[in-house]
Amino acid sequence: MKILVSACLLGLPTRYDSRSKPDEKILKLLEKHILIPVCPEQLGGLPTPRPRCEILGGHGWTGKEKVVDEFGCDRTESYLKGAKLTLEIARLLKVSVAILKSKSPSCGKYLVYDGSFSGRLVPGKGVTAFLLEKNGVKVFEENEVFMDNNGLR
Ligand code: SF4
Repeated sequence: MKILVSACLLGLPTRYDSRSKPDEKILKLLEKHILIPVCPEQLGGLPTPRPRCEILGGHGWTGKEKVVDEFGCDRTESYLKGAKLTLEIARLLKVSVAILKSKSPSCGKYLVYDGSFSGRLVPGKGVTAFLLEKNGVKVFEENEVFMDNNGLR
């Protein structure tokens, strides 16, 4: 199966702090699946390393919020561009499943930081997770991936 994956889950140093933090469980999926790494924030033109960003409003992305960095700069356009390019990649490669990194302002599916840069998590989605789901891509967080003898389930 072809699966879109947050690049950082494979250990690619795309994170805001440019550290490599591979998720062994996700790497193991490579044995049976074709994983297509994407980093929406890099696709949106943001540098690596980059300042931390959060979605203002305290409820994640619903299509009209602003994404700002820790210095108060509006980064919404970059986040939107990255989300749209990620969706374009999914369509080009006919991928209908994605495994995305939890708690990211781009990739988070259930929880994101509340926009106050105080470390508080709130229910809500990242920009890319929202757009992919809205367009029919089935999104999982890395914690929702379970392996058994038959592989991904
Ligand atoms: Fe890139 Fe998403 Fe990983 Fe952030 S969580 S580094 S946007 S792939």
